[in-house]
Amino acid sequence: MTVETAAPVRYRLRLKKGRERSLELRHPWLFTGAIDEIQALPGATPGDLGDVVDSNGRFLARGTVQPDSQIVCRIFVWEDTPIDRDFFVARLAAARRWRGECISADHTDAYRLVHSEGDELPGLVVDRYGPLLAVQTLTAGMHRLQPLWLDALEETLAPEAIVERGQEGRREPVADGPAVVLRGTWAHTLLEVREHGLRYRFDALGGQKTGLYLDQRENRALVRRHAAGARVLDLFGYVGGFGIAAGAGGASDVTVVDSSAPALAFARVNWESNGLAPDLLRTHDVDGFEFLRRTEETWDRIVIDPPPLARTRTSLERALRAYKDLNLWAFVRARPGALIWTFTCSQQVSHDLFQKVVFGAARDAGASVQWLARLGAGPDHPVHLDHPQGEYLKGLWLRVLQPGRAPRPREKKP
Ligand code: SAH
Repeated sequence: MTVETAAPVRYRLRLKKGRERSLELRHPWLFTGAIDEIQALPGATPGDLGDVVDSNGRFLARGTVQPDSQIVCRIFVWEDTPIDRDFFVARLAAARRWRGECISADHTDAYRLVHSEGDELPGLVVDRYGPLLAVQTLTAGMHRLQPLWLDALEETLAPEAIVERGQEGRREPVADGPAVVLRGTWAHTLLEVREHGLRYRFDALGGQKTGLYLDQRENRALVRRHAAGARVLDLFGYVGGFGIAAGAGGASDVTVVDSSAPALAFARVNWESNGLAPDLLRTHDVDGFEFLRRTEETWDRIVIDPPPLARTRTSLERALRAYKDLNLWAFVRARPGALIWTFTCSQQVSHDLFQKVVFGAARDAGASVQWLARLGAGPDHPVHLDHPQGEYLKGLWLRVLQPGRAPRPREKKP
């Protein structure tokens, strides 16, 4: 379907007097508390576009509206301009221009092309995997605008196919389903991409996220540079991203742990297709928390990349205990001089909070630890200064001078 016309504007959101501040600061989320009145035109459906006006009726911004949500409007433009195909073509072109600068196409053909608010396209995520584009719509509004951005994606990027991927990150309910091919034809399930010259194969229609965890690309390259001769543990390894990078960097042996057996099967395939010796890789399809607690092995390099443990504010307490436990045991299983890369991808956990938890774990374990750097997602995951919430991946690079001691059983953390 080709839509030439602009998407209709069917809501009008009038702000309470004096509540223009967040819009003046160009924050792309408008919260319900600032709204005096929502007028719905005939036929308005949640997700439709709406205009935000001040208490005198003056136009301020336009975005997608979810009347019952805390975030009542996600702003697309601060000018009275139409949201049409040209709008998406222009924003996609800008997003693509930056990737052309920050990604070296000779070595890498998998990267995030559109990072939602970070690219001024709230609710839209587009990942490029070679000839394939994998999209995720995080909001009902962006889902509704699909015909417009699909046309724009085809026009701007001419991909072989566009698929819609797992909706686990979605913030609002939208009619759900498995991965679907939205444009073009895509019959393969396997896809192989290159990252800094390494080959990664994965399930292009199943699997997790949009296929790979592209946000860790630069951190995998960092681990590779520091892996020579080391015993490496890749905890929560998925299809072996960090482990294979470490193997390519000359690790003496690599252990990948993940609770997903299909992911680990890919890890083995990827290990071997990068020419690494099969007997240097071990995979364990077990719980990562249990593994670290029970193993008696020690490592020179440990990567800890768990799934988001705190998805909501209420689960934050539990998540912080889990992060502390994980990191505490990593300090116990580390060898003197070991490097640890430890991550959180929970939106609710800030850099400062994560650091506090990890440092607390080191203290409790009695480990002596240096802090080398704070880490985050690569430059293909831009965070707009007006929307700091877009920074979800945080990490710490640490060096263990003196490993910790295992807590006695009665002191064991839950
Ligand atoms: N490090 C990976 C991405 C990890 S994402 C990379 O660079 O590609 C988190 C991983 O944790 C997923 O693969 C998921 O299958 C796994 N996982 C989730 N819960 C787990 C658990 N309790 N124990 C072990 N693995 C788990």
